[in-house]
Amino acid sequence: MSNIVAIVGRPNVGKSTLYNRLTESRKAIVDDFSGVTRDRHYGIAEWTHHNFTVIDTGGYVANSEDVFEAAIREQVVIAVEEATAILFVVDVTTGITDLDDEIAVLLRRSKKPVFVVVNKVDNTLQQSDATIFYSLGLGEIYNISSMTGSGTGELLDEVVKTF
Ligand code: GDP
Ligand code: MG
Repeated sequence: MSNIVAIVGRPNVGKSTLYNRLTESRKAIVDDFSGVTRDRHYGIAEWTHHNFTVIDTGGYVANSEDVFEAAIREQVVIAVEEATAILFVVDVTTGITDLDDEIAVLLRRSKKPVFVVVNKVDNTLQQSDATIFYSLGLGEIYNISSMTGSGTGELLDEVVKTF
């Protein structure tokens, strides 16, 4: 059984940017446009000789707040069921939103390892802003910049330990 890492979070936090970075130059392995899978992209990643599947969620969700919330909840529930580990992406430039809090409630019930990934930490000044995300109650936080790639190695070192 292959290990699966699911990327969840509300829109615009940088999930797809992180997905693209992790699956760089590797082809998507599944292109299934039925039901909820329409909103999911599957790709292959490799870190320190561990190969794993990465799922990007929420790609094509319609642009309405209600649809967003229901669809995001559904994606989180599926991720908790099928993933080996979950990357919960949040955005240091916006802080914690209501939707982040709702997702955190769902993820705190999960028995699967959850990594709080604070994205858009593009410079060291933002490291201190990121500490607010400890209050999500999901343990350690991992500051990264999906744009530059900074912090992603430290994150993946911990993720592969859960395999
Ligand atoms: P998604 O909706 O969660 O999949 O978010 P996207 O990956 O589409 O990114 C949303 C926006 O955030 C885009 O304009 C990205 O270029 C930007 N973004 C993503 N990662 C970073 C980052 O590390 N730093 C900065 N400054 N912007 C980022
Ligand atoms: Mg996206």
